[in-house]
Amino acid sequence: MDIHEYQAKELLNGFGIRTPRGGLAYSPEQAAYRARDIGGERWVVKAQVHSGGRGKVGGIHDCGDEDAVYRAASRLFGSRLQTGGSGSPSKVVYRVYVEEYVEIQREMYLGLVLDRNSERVMVVASASGGMEIEEISVSEPDSILRCIVEPAVGMQAFQAREIAFLLGIDSANLRSATDLILAAYRAFEELDATMVEINPLVIAEDGRLCALDSKMTFDDNALYRHPEIAELRDKSQEDARETRAMDRGLKYIGFDGDIGCIVNGAGLAMATLDLLEKHGGRAANFLDIGGAAPPERVAKAIRQLQSDEHLSVLLINVFAGINRCDWIAEGVVQALAEKPLTIPVVVRLAGNNVEEGRKTLSRSGLPIIRASTLDEAVTRTITARQRMIDSNGPRNP
Ligand code: GDP
Ligand code: MN
Repeated sequence: MDIHEYQAKELLNGFGIRTPRGGLAYSPEQAAYRARDIGGERWVVKAQVHSGGRGKVGGIHDCGDEDAVYRAASRLFGSRLQTGGSGSPSKVVYRVYVEEYVEIQREMYLGLVLDRNSERVMVVASASGGMEIEEISVSEPDSILRCIVEPAVGMQAFQAREIAFLLGIDSANLRSATDLILAAYRAFEELDATMVEINPLVIAEDGRLCALDSKMTFDDNALYRHPEIAELRDKSQEDARETRAMDRGLKYIGFDGDIGCIVNGAGLAMATLDLLEKHGGRAANFLDIGGAAPPERVAKAIRQLQSDEHLSVLLINVFAGINRCDWIAEGVVQALAEKPLTIPVVVRLAGNNVEEGRKTLSRSGLPIIRASTLDEAVTRTITARQRMIDSNGPRNP
């Protein structure tokens, strides 16, 4: 789960990291009011959307008076920011953050990520930060420093000091930079984040360190331990299909093919997608029903895909370890009896209670194409899709 910049800053504040004074606004009037409240004579108005790179697409405005703050906010509210280049999804601005303008002496980059290769938290830092960090990582890869944290002992003060030193922090700031890096790690660790990024981390005019921008991402599977973080979720920033699924206790990942996939577990999902591709098919999604899925959840998953007009075929592939095939079958029958699908459905069941599951499917009399192995499931799906396209034309525009 992603959160907004202002929320990340508030969290980091709680760990002792300094950020500019700021206030959130839901309207241009409120933005101007925030500026007055913050005081001073120069502000930055920042679109709050779940993505970086706002500076390059007009999401960050430098304002010299309250009127300019009002105008910048007016322009931002309701606008769409496309930060990932053409073709990428855009995000609508519903909130803006107004901050005191900070005079920058130097911009740096600090990031903590979950590094899947080393299975460790990795600190990534660069003495030059700001908007060009992506380019720098390509043009001068050696200027980016990386440091692995051993989970058994956590980040050590010497590591933080070394990072601060390599960032070119002078002796006057070495202590506070070390503290800041340790604090960022503590935030990462204690809040079950998968990413904490401060970019830019700056030396302000007064010579002190300040986190000028920040992003945080959290492990969805650990959110139950942090209700105060789960509360920060902003559905307006998420893929509507994924949100709907998540609200139903399902995990949905959308793709651009025309084969609907309901599976259990990410591993089986990956294998299914790969095999489909190998046979010339392309998935429209993967919808993970998780473990111990009751019939209701399975039926919900099918209903969710029933509204997708791009599907040519639906493949339900479950290898039941914690799941029960009879429950899966009941869910399939429940959903299809309520509202028949207009596309072919292939069901492959294996594992727990598979015999009961098969019986339930055949007793239902529904036109379900059955398969027992993964290979069979995929080839039958591909064939059914082809037949569907031959008789109706392609569904995917
Ligand atoms: P991003 O483009 O989404 O990463 O948004 P940022 O918050 O990082 O803002 C983009 C850039 O605007 C930063 O890298 C800074 O160079 C600049 N910027 C943002 N806030 C301030 C500020 O208060 N003072 C100054 N001088 N520059 C700022
Ligand atoms: Mn930034």
